[in-house]
Amino acid sequence: MKTILLIEDNPQNRYLVEFLLKQRGYNVLHAETGLQGLELAAIARPDLILLDIQLPGMDGYAVAHALKSDPQLNAIPIVAVTSYAMVGDREKCLAAGAEGYIEKPIDPESFGDEVERFFPTTPGDVAP
Ligand code: MN
Repeated sequence: MKTILLIEDNPQNRYLVEFLLKQRGYNVLHAETGLQGLELAAIARPDLILLDIQLPGMDGYAVAHALKSDPQLNAIPIVAVTSYAMVGDREKCLAAGAEGYIEKPIDPESFGDEVERFFPTTPGDVAP
């Protein structure tokens, strides 16, 4: 089973993302702050990280930068999930180290497929 770490401060978004991803057979871990997310990433070594950009304290850009600066964690794909609609934000996410970008509000119809594009293999694989 693949593990996804969700770093998101909004409880409704956490609930929705967890629901959508568990439906697809993923193990979902949560962090409410960037710092918590970094700690959990180091402990759990998730297969993918979904990263909110608007976080209290350390923002998503700083979290992405920290993850990509850590040789133990920099291979984990990061997908930014953010409601920022300003021009240049996608580029800013990618420049900070994110592999991809999903816009809020989350569309329950397409979210799972969008996330899965960033995995090298299909979900439901049994871990060795
Ligand atoms: Mn947020």
